[in-house]
Amino acid sequence: ATDLDVVAGLLRDVPDFPSPGIRFWDLSALLADGAGLAATTRLLAAHDGPAPEVVVGIEARGFLLGAAVAHSLGVGVVAVRKQGKLPIVAASESYDLEYGSATLELPADVLRPGARALLVDDVLATGGTVAAAAALVEGAGATVAAVSVVLELPALHGRERLDGRPVHALLAR
Ligand code: IMP
Repeated sequence: ATDLDVVAGLLRDVPDFPSPGIRFWDLSALLADGAGLAATTRLLAAHDGPAPEVVVGIEARGFLLGAAVAHSLGVGVVAVRKQGKLPIVAASESYDLEYGSATLELPADVLRPGARALLVDDVLATGGTVAAAAALVEGAGATVAAVSVVLELPALHGRERLDGRPVHALLAR
């Protein structure tokens, strides 16, 4: 089986989570499987474009994937966190959710200005999360080399919110 077959075979979808009518893609079984994690890591790291100098992982599953990808590339990882977790914050970025809003924060003094960053998350849905993380990275003077996600949900048009930044999605559903 190819790496992509392995990844696709370990993705699960759960109906009516977190609310009725929503289909939730669950990566737990993929992350828990050694061959699955290895295949996912290889594929996420293999985006087109210039070699990243740092990986930025988005809370929370982006931390798991981002650290694995960073290690495989021989670079470090920066954790973009939900509001209130970081002691020293470089910047905050808020974005709208279906109900209410959310805020992401970038830790201070860890992203070198000019660094080429690879953004990593599990799922690209409406794109609000990745767009906020990209704004934080660029606001710090770094650049987004690419956005790597396991799964893109094209019906939600997340890519359109990313202003042409390259998106490397392993699968679309
Ligand atoms: P967006 O901001 O609408 O693109 O939502 C993306 C964020 O919500 C990501 O950080 C995902 O972890 C999470 N998310 C959205 N849909 C799913 C899903 O079906 N499975 C797992 N996570 C999801």
